[in-house]
Amino acid sequence: MIELSNIRKSYTVANNALEVLKGVNVRVEKGELVSIMGSSGSGKSTLLNILGILDNYDHGEYHLGGTLIKNLSERKAAVYRNRMIGFVFQSFNLVSFKTARENVALPLYYNKTGRKKRNLLAMEYLEKVGLADWANHLPNEMSGGQKQRVAIARALITKPQVVLADEPTGALDSQTSYEVMQLMKSVNDEGMTVVIVTHENDIADMTERVIQLKDGKIVS
Ligand code: ADP
Ligand code: MG
Repeated sequence: MIELSNIRKSYTVANNALEVLKGVNVRVEKGELVSIMGSSGSGKSTLLNILGILDNYDHGEYHLGGTLIKNLSERKAAVYRNRMIGFVFQSFNLVSFKTARENVALPLYYNKTGRKKRNLLAMEYLEKVGLADWANHLPNEMSGGQKQRVAIARALITKPQVVLADEPTGALDSQTSYEVMQLMKSVNDEGMTVVIVTHENDIADMTERVIQLKDGKIVS
């Protein structure tokens, strides 16, 4: 599903090149639930943003579902991203003035699904994450765990090939983190490929395989 070979990525900071990824090789098979672990600043978000077609890389090759993702125009990157990727963020990134249902439906608005179908599907996905009763609530009326479940429903509604989550439990207490991870597991049980970035051991322990990132390379 995901194949990274010899990926390198540098940032230029004050005219100096900061090499963050120094030749990363990763394979994730369809239907896997894996975590990417590493200390703060090790390049986890950089790697996930490349996987999510949110950022480019300098060297190497990235294949997603057999398609080479390289040097895409903004437009093409957006098309692939919308078609193939569901993203979940630490800070939820919900639109504050839209209800839970409207937030979940948003990706369908961008891919031009009709309103009636958008609303039906949004309710279906809210039900999936146990929040049907909260459809008409705004994000600021919901707990952190509920907000993240809305964000997960939003990530799933386009039926992506892979769900990428960047520290999805980073803003949650441990009980809520556990519940969100259970939800990610059940999503994976339905066949979805899931990649979770974390720096917490107990979160990584809940996945099937842990990929360790250290000094810009995969160490295990
Ligand atoms: P992690 O998610 O593991 O904490 P990041 O991928 O966010 O790590 O960052 C890795 C390194 O790259 C850090 O040293 C960070 O400061 C640097 N970095 C990240 N994004 C940028 C950017 N847009 N411009 C310059 N440096 C960056
Ligand atoms: Mg990060």
